[in-house]
Amino acid sequence: MSEKRFVRIWTEINVEEVEKHLIYIEDLYGSCGNCKKLGLNYLKDIKCPACGTTFKYAATTLKSPADSIKILNRIKSAGVQLTLIEREDFTKAQAKDALGSLFKKE
Ligand SMILES: [Zn+2]
Repeated sequence: MSEKRFVRIWTEINVEEVEKHLIYIEDLYGSCGNCKKLGLNYLKDIKCPACGTTFKYAATTLKSPADSIKILNRIKSAGVQLTLIEREDFTKAQAKDALGSLFKKE
């Protein structure tokens, strides 16, 4: 059997699309990126119980790659369809998007 490992892959995302389907993971619990509802279970709640948004992406507030791998393993064992995004990358993408829309107004 060949060994499997997690690696980070660069991909192009639509910031608005990701924002609408994002769950933030803080260790065991998550919060909705859309309505900010707290205390979600990212392994069970595929939809936000408050605003009904479906989660496709996850970003973690945990900094260590080891913690991200723990989360990825939990997601995998639970059979949940969530793509983990590097929080820092996403925050940068959001900032750039905000800047872009500022310029569009001029
Ligand atoms: Zn929500």
